[in-house]
Amino acid sequence: MKRLSATITGLLMMSFSAHAVPVCADVKGTAKDVIFLEGPNCDIAKDISDVVNEISATFGGPSVTLLIGGASDNANFDLGHLIELPYQMIFYGRYGSEYPVPRMSVVISAAHEYGHAIFHERFKEEFPQFADLVAKLAKVSDVKEAKARGQATQEQLSQAMTDLTKTPSYAEFSKYLSAYSEFFADVIAVYHMQDKSAMLSALYYQQMSDTDFAFARMRDFASKPTERYEAMLSEEHAKLAIARTYVGESLWPKDKLQAKRFEEKILSAIMTVVKADMKNGKSPDWKEMNDNLIAELKKK
Ligand SMILES: [Zn+2]
Repeated sequence: MKRLSATITGLLMMSFSAHAVPVCADVKGTAKDVIFLEGPNCDIAKDISDVVNEISATFGGPSVTLLIGGASDNANFDLGHLIELPYQMIFYGRYGSEYPVPRMSVVISAAHEYGHAIFHERFKEEFPQFADLVAKLAKVSDVKEAKARGQATQEQLSQAMTDLTKTPSYAEFSKYLSAYSEFFADVIAVYHMQDKSAMLSALYYQQMSDTDFAFARMRDFASKPTERYEAMLSEEHAKLAIARTYVGESLWPKDKLQAKRFEEKILSAIMTVVKADMKNGKSPDWKEMNDNLIAELKKK
């Protein structure tokens, strides 16, 4: 479960160390540039760039730079302007076995990570009290990019990250926002793919354990979470599993226009419930969190 929870996370800081190599002509638009850490692969970069451009055309969203590393199970939006992805998604078995999965997993992960970028833009607008944190997150992102281009040192990056982790509102931000951000990023991925099970497909591999499968199923919009795995619902990627089912049943768009309308409705509802959570001074448990969000979604 640890491995899987580290997969497609929004907040995990990855520190690549290799230097940058030249860019690809097909990376353009909202995906403004690409940096490769283990040799160029313009083919995958184009696929990812296309996904980012298609999603921003439908839902809006900020410009991002793609940072494409080697084979791994990690994808990340760094809450600045970098989307970090492997060129090959690979999952790891219990005893060190490696399971490479089809390219579609990287593409769906890219959609999910860009969902975090959209979420973060809205967060910045709605929560000006986090401006200092936002600036520090942006700084880490800038230094990380400079380092990937060979223009900054590991020391400079470590310094920026230390400044970030010392910011008191960082813990607050994670506590109140993480589960909603994961949920929303999944909404963008499944809407974009027009497939309620896109996240489950992205995380699936034939040899995965029953526990990992049960955990991945919490990301599915086509099924209900089973009570047997209730304990998993406290994890941030799984916490809003019931709201995912609700979206799959009641807010499933028939076209892009409706997708945009539903996305806006979902994002507004999230902002409303997060503001209420903050006012109450506590982040609710999974049950209350799902109930609150679904109640808010039913209102409008
Ligand atoms: Zn995520």
